[in-house]
Amino acid sequence: DPDILVAGEALVDFLPDRSGPLREIEGFSRRAGGAPANVAIALARLGERPWFLSNLSTDAFGEFLADTLAAEGITDRFLTRDQEHRTTLAFVAHDADADRSFSFYRTATADQHIDPGVVDDDALVTVSWVVLGGVALASEPARSRLLDFAERAREHGCTIVLDPNRRPELWADTATYERVLGDALALTDVCKISEEDLAGTRFADESPDVLLDAGPHTVVSTCGADGAHVVAGEDAPWGPAEYEHGGYAVKPTDTTGAGDAFLAGVLYGLANGERLDETLAFADAVAALTTTEQGAIAALPDREAVAAFRADSE
Ligand code: ATP
Repeated sequence: DPDILVAGEALVDFLPDRSGPLREIEGFSRRAGGAPANVAIALARLGERPWFLSNLSTDAFGEFLADTLAAEGITDRFLTRDQEHRTTLAFVAHDADADRSFSFYRTATADQHIDPGVVDDDALVTVSWVVLGGVALASEPARSRLLDFAERAREHGCTIVLDPNRRPELWADTATYERVLGDALALTDVCKISEEDLAGTRFADESPDVLLDAGPHTVVSTCGADGAHVVAGEDAPWGPAEYEHGGYAVKPTDTTGAGDAFLAGVLYGLANGERLDETLAFADAVAALTTTEQGAIAALPDREAVAAFRADSE
């Protein structure tokens, strides 16, 4: 059985066929998305088949997501199907400053009704890593259910991994986000963050101690083209450590999902007992490769492709 369980939303991203404000875009490409779905697919490509816990609508977009996950070899044991709620849609625009913005169509959607109750204790004892993303924590009932699930998983000895993956469009205000982030961090062992995840909150600080004091023993930060950084505290099972990796030079086409590919690389390294510095380099390589094509999953590599790319780059 898989020893990594990824929980959270699968949704459909509509990527614009050109840059400009959303109101002017006529053409879009449909892509499977949702950070947890991207992480699960990235792990599957690396040969590390995870469980994926999610709730998929039975509408046409939910069928498309179910087909996509099945084609990637992800088992549907913890994928519930929902006739009452529709699939979340996210329309993406690249504004003049090349920043990505999202317009979410997410009223009463299936992903907000995820049910971790389907993961029985017998299954949970076989899982070592539970991965949560912040989008699923933005609304109820998914928020409470997933935080309760994280607590139950911890009691079973699972390591909890969190990517806050902040989308300001989904949060009422910064105070709410900060409070929920604090609750989630208290249950987290390994946290993956970017600068935007923390901006304007009490966790934004030059020193990683603020985050290490909030719960996690290990904090991995991404810095776009400049690569990534990891800090582990005294209580980390791999011992205290700090490493940086400067990233890999590629010609990026689209960085959608780069953070998710990166997190999959981190999980792959940690779950296979790799050293932290090697894990960071591996994750940077997986993420760099995935920026070379449009969409979050098109260019996700397998292990051989990562090895070949690293051999060429070093
Ligand atoms: P999100 O996917 O939500 O934007 P994020 O903010 O973590 O997540 P980035 O910091 O942009 O994403 O990128 C994550 C990782 O992807 C980086 O740590 C790096 O390894 C890789 N990466 C991103 N952009 C580039 C780039 N232009 N060239 C090479 N690697 C990149």
